[in-house]
Amino acid sequence: MVKIDLHTHSTRSDGLDSPTDLMINAKKAGLDVIALTDHDTVSGWDEARGKAFELGLGFVPGIEVTSVSDIERFGRTIRISVHLLAYLPDPDHKALEIVLGDTVATREARGRAIVEKLAEQIPITWEMVLDHLDKGATIGRPAIADTLVTMGLVADRSAAFDHYLSTDGPFYVSHSTVSTLEAIGLIRQAGGVPVIAHPLKGVGPDTDPEDLPVDHFEEMIAAGLQGVEVYHRDVPETARKWLHELAAKHDLIITGSSDYHGVSGKPNQLGENTTSQEMLDRIVELGTGTKASL
Ligand code: AMP
Ligand code: FE
Ligand code: FE
Ligand code: ZN
Repeated sequence: MVKIDLHTHSTRSDGLDSPTDLMINAKKAGLDVIALTDHDTVSGWDEARGKAFELGLGFVPGIEVTSVSDIERFGRTIRISVHLLAYLPDPDHKALEIVLGDTVATREARGRAIVEKLAEQIPITWEMVLDHLDKGATIGRPAIADTLVTMGLVADRSAAFDHYLSTDGPFYVSHSTVSTLEAIGLIRQAGGVPVIAHPLKGVGPDTDPEDLPVDHFEEMIAAGLQGVEVYHRDVPETARKWLHELAAKHDLIITGSSDYHGVSGKPNQLGENTTSQEMLDRIVELGTGTKASL
């Protein structure tokens, strides 16, 4: 059986393996096909594709696009962060390129703001964070987490998120970026296939499925969403069942992936969840912005 993992990160964003090492590790893990989906950038594609070819590994270029949605929940509006996997988009599509460029730029300002807050209590500087980032890599909280580890304040990335960097913690600053519906439209215009990453992550086991945001999912589908990443370690069982029903109703693609960030970047390991050949075939058929190398 072919092993297909469609969600991974390299040092071009917040993963710990270079694109080359990621491909080597994918081969070692027994994968047949891998997608590189760094946050808001395509800068790892060429290196990854070249190495994948050398190793006889199938390669699918992708991006994990950061977006935000304002949704009505229980009578009030809340802002949630939505990650969209975009498979096979044209990397030279101007409007998409501009939006991604803006997101990357605001990620830097936002990273600096988080560090400024932290600096009121601990001796951290932005320069220290830059030491944990490749030049030009998309900046995110993991680089700040790595800095806190180097400073000896926490044991690993997960502990840094628990103690300093959680979304509801005192040092958090939210992303300012494109809206989810606009991002879906842009990905489609660029010939890409938008698949929502780890949907309903964080929904508790006791959540009543009736309370899940069906309206928002239907808005995303109307805007052009084509798939849901059901098999991901952060998608709880209740949500999986609900998403399967939604996918059946709207004929959505269903994927499964690791969201690997390096062996020690996150517990997620290559190939721990996979996508079927049939679903990959649908993505390849629908994606017209650039080619997969299979
Ligand atoms: P940001 O893009 O700055 O909002 O940071 C989110 C990123 O942090 C995600 O893409 C994950 O890679 C990473 N992340 C989130 N929670 C954790 C955690 N508990 N341990 C390690 N990495 C995490
Ligand atoms: Fe990440
Ligand atoms: Fe994500
Ligand atoms: Zn991811």
